[in-house]
Amino acid sequence: MPHPGNLGHWWLTTASSWERLHAVPGDAVDADDEDACDELRMYALTLTARCGVRAVMAWPGLGSRLALPRCGHCCRILGIPAGPGTPGNRAEILGQRPIDKTKVKGAR
Ligand SMILES: [Zn+2]
Repeated sequence: MPHPGNLGHWWLTTASSWERLHAVPGDAVDADDEDACDELRMYALTLTARCGVRAVMAWPGLGSRLALPRCGHCCRILGIPAGPGTPGNRAEILGQRPIDKTKVKGAR
C-alpha cells in the first residue's frame, strides 16, 4: 500500500517475471477504491513504475514483499538504498529502530 513507510508508492512486481519490486506512484491506483484494488489483484492493470518500466503489475504477497529485491533504478530515483523488501518493511530505511518495549512506559 502507498503509505508513508513505502514513500507513498505501491511496491509491485511485473506479473510476467516476479523478479523485483518496482515503485509505482501511489496515485496510480486509488487504495480506497476496492474495484481498483481488485483489478490490481487480478493482474488487470498496466502501470508505469518510477524507473520507466511499464507492464501489467502484480501485487505480491507478504513473502515476496519481504524477499524480492527492490528495483535499483526506482530506489535511486527515490533516494533510498537498493535491497530486499518494500521500504515499509525495512526499518533501517526509515531511520527507525524497533520499539524497545522495556523502555515504553506501562508496557510489560
Ligand atoms: Zn523500477
